[in-house]
Amino acid sequence: RKNLIVFGTRPEAIKMAPLVMEFLKHPDDFVTKVCVTAQHREMLDQVLSFFEIKPDYDLDLMKPNQNLYSLTADIIIGLKPILEEFEPDYIYVHGDTTTTMATSIAGFYSKSIVCHVEAGLRTNNMKSPFPEEMNRCVTGVLSTIHFSPTKTSKKNLVLENKPEASIVVTGNTVIDALKYSVNKVKSVDFADNEINQLEGILNKNRRIVLVTGHRRENHGQGFINICKALKKIALDNEDVQIIYPVHLNPNVQKPVYNLLKEIENITLIAPISYPAFVWLMEKSYMIITDSGGVQEEAPSLGKPVLVMRDTTERPEAVEAGTVILVGTNQTKIVEETQKLLDNYEWYNQMKRLHNPYGDGKACNRIVEHILKDENER
Ligand code: UDP
Repeated sequence: RKNLIVFGTRPEAIKMAPLVMEFLKHPDDFVTKVCVTAQHREMLDQVLSFFEIKPDYDLDLMKPNQNLYSLTADIIIGLKPILEEFEPDYIYVHGDTTTTMATSIAGFYSKSIVCHVEAGLRTNNMKSPFPEEMNRCVTGVLSTIHFSPTKTSKKNLVLENKPEASIVVTGNTVIDALKYSVNKVKSVDFADNEINQLEGILNKNRRIVLVTGHRRENHGQGFINICKALKKIALDNEDVQIIYPVHLNPNVQKPVYNLLKEIENITLIAPISYPAFVWLMEKSYMIITDSGGVQEEAPSLGKPVLVMRDTTERPEAVEAGTVILVGTNQTKIVEETQKLLDNYEWYNQMKRLHNPYGDGKACNRIVEHILKDENER
């Protein structure tokens, strides 16, 4: 049987890399090929090199002023000759990007079995996050097999009348990636310049508050509020160093550099590679983020997370208590951070909570299911 695994952005690559590695352990059962759309070029390449994945096909679609219309069209058109030549039985897509949605359309046209990894996340508001909620709903409609990270995401799909037998709860593959990465980064023969440089800029006497933010819904006033909150936290807490790898999007860069660049205990750096980020998460006291992946990863490392969003498609983390939603409300961000900095009992309680996103064996469950599916078809 032939597998084609398709992804285009850094977070997708991180979450699909362990699946590629797991399928490659079964060369007698599957021919597995990887296609990247390279919706994000540079950040994607760093992940590929860390996981030692060489794509078989590369659409190389990143262009200046890329827009959703041309990207969607280019992905579908770019995949056509690949699907015609390779004729995959199974196509795997991940999550909610334009690559995910457009690939599932192409996979439907080619009559392959579309398998959606990280299926069933919903805000149930088609306009938010935009365009991700639409991407995941369309992909859900076109997929034959849904690999849901949690029972909650499975329930969302059942409510949309997807057959129960088509949904498999696996845990999130991000935990598989994280476990592999933590081991690799800690191994004696792993050397990384970026980690060495980061070591040089960390102040050993201060608690590290790691910040990331990029979401479209926070652009504008949201980022201004976030920056004002970070400034207050920094000024009120001399024993804290805020480290912020700033996303390359100008809508993020502009407010962040304007408002935060000259504060002694705020260190703004360029986005860092995945292994360096994993290393930095481990060194952190706590994390403030609007990222989906980071809030799934951090609890496995015992790091409390504040999430700067008003709505979430990840209610499991809020219910488990491993993350607290603070939106982009300046006062709320400051108060919840201060509570974690000052109240050790509260901090330790949050640190110890169980991560609802899995045990690091999601990819193994996916492969086992496909082996079974293949025999049944
Ligand atoms: N990440 C990274 N470098 C950074 C910031 C984040 O490698 O400077 C990783 C992080 O560990 C997580 C993923 O990128 O696995 C999250 O990506 P992002 O926040 O861009 O997207 P989202 O998860 O919100 O879709």
